[in-house]
Amino acid sequence: MAICDVLQLGNPLLREVAERADDPSSPEVAAVVADLQETLAHWRATTTYGRGIAAPQIGVLRRIVFMNVDRPWPLINPVITERSPETMVVWDACLSFLCIFFQVTRHEWVTVRYQDTTSAWHELRAEGDLAELLQHEIDHLDGILAVDRMTDVRTLCTREEFERRYRADSPYANGQDAAADTSEASRRRVTEEARAGGDG
Ligand SMILES: [Zn+2]
Repeated sequence: MAICDVLQLGNPLLREVAERADDPSSPEVAAVVADLQETLAHWRATTTYGRGIAAPQIGVLRRIVFMNVDRPWPLINPVITERSPETMVVWDACLSFLCIFFQVTRHEWVTVRYQDTTSAWHELRAEGDLAELLQHEIDHLDGILAVDRMTDVRTLCTREEFERRYRADSPYANGQDAAADTSEASRRRVTEEARAGGDG
């Protein structure tokens, strides 16, 4: 395990399409998951941001996402299989450009299929903040960044202005514990909405 450098906006690797992880139970995938976990924990501890990270952000072009909304949660080969016709506008940012915040358009809910690190498949339906986060992270696997989803460039603001004006009403609310507030709601959603075979 290691704390890895997070590639920053402008690095062409962030625009590549990642390849499937053929064997989610392999030691190679476990090593990537461990690196993502440690890197995300480091960012959260040092910046108060960091609910999820995708392998391309540490330069690994594999379809692996690691989230920590209420527990460590690796998603291997995640695919969005269904999207709500309804969309929502939410604040977003990224560890690859944490100096800017802006509003993006996302689907209100999505259904996601993914494998765990034993290769078992799961499916869940997520809404709200968790749906936003899943769309953000899965976009990374296709070289799509949150800036591509910006509703209006006039929503762009610096981190300082975002924290002063908007953070309290955003998915990043609650200052030092940015993740904890949304994690409760997210866990509820996962529990209530996970389909049979889902991970709960
Ligand atoms: Zn990101």
